[in-house]
Amino acid sequence: MDTIRQQFVADLAAADGNAKAVEDLRVKYFGRKGTITQLAKNTDFSKFSSEERKSFGIRLNELKTFAEEAIRSAQESAKAASAAKPKAKIDLTLPGADHRLGSMHPISLVQIELEEIFQGMGFRVLTGYEIETEFNNFTGLNIPEDHPAREMQDTYWLKNGMLLRTHTSPNQVRAMRKFGAPVRAIFPGRCFRNEATDACHETTFYQCEGLMVDRNISVANLIAVMRELLCEVFRREVTVRLRPGFFPFVEPGFELDVQCLICGGKGCPTCKQSGWLELMPCGLIHPRVLEMSGIDSKEFSGFAFGVGLTRLAMMKYGIPDIRLLLGGDIRFFEQFAATV
Ligand SMILES: [Zn+2]
Repeated sequence: MDTIRQQFVADLAAADGNAKAVEDLRVKYFGRKGTITQLAKNTDFSKFSSEERKSFGIRLNELKTFAEEAIRSAQESAKAASAAKPKAKIDLTLPGADHRLGSMHPISLVQIELEEIFQGMGFRVLTGYEIETEFNNFTGLNIPEDHPAREMQDTYWLKNGMLLRTHTSPNQVRAMRKFGAPVRAIFPGRCFRNEATDACHETTFYQCEGLMVDRNISVANLIAVMRELLCEVFRREVTVRLRPGFFPFVEPGFELDVQCLICGGKGCPTCKQSGWLELMPCGLIHPRVLEMSGIDSKEFSGFAFGVGLTRLAMMKYGIPDIRLLLGGDIRFFEQFAATV
């Protein structure tokens, strides 16, 4: 029993307050096969006299009490030590985790902004088809095969005779046929032309056309809506001018030009040194177009317009070259907001 006691004291010292070592120690002496457990179990008391039996029992109890107390005390100090130790080191001076939102394409930003402005004025937003029939894109819009506009709007043809739309105008007829009058709608979307690219021409660009048909619609309504739109988009006063313009589906037709916001009217490559940019073809819808769409032109009138979303984005953000927009240079796109 003395040997066991000495061994226990040595083992306890070796455990050195380590929680796991103390637990191993408890199992070694008090587990089912533990030294002290086995000593009590395996001793053959029949060979002992009653005095010897009594004395053995007292010494065994002393040993058990001593060992149990020692283990309990070691367990408690191990527990206290681990509670005092910080669980993980946290360096509050390190920068936080980087959550990058990415950024939106400038044309998407302008398109979403435009949709919100028009929706605020009661317009619905409709998207059409990027692949159109020749009839919807040209013939049905009063642009027959020998019309000069066909040459200006050279496009990409598919093998089945369809084409990539050169403008969003086919949607004007679709909207009037579908909803009748009165109707207010805009049609933002991607258009295509077979162009030689330079600082202001690309093969792919974005337009937003729109129309408003109601009773007593005049040029005054057209100007009011366009002015509201431009002030909202640019958030400042812009200088505009109206020039007569010809479009087959409006009468009278106008070109709304905006003074170049990049050079302030002095002249730069974007405005071809003229100081002005064609921003919106517009006009009052031709009565014949209304009639063809099933609307009574004696009761209703309307205006229509087209905005170059690409050009608007270039003006708004001061982008000097249209080719940047489809160029895929991440340093360019990272400058734009992630949300609207
Ligand atoms: Zn300019």
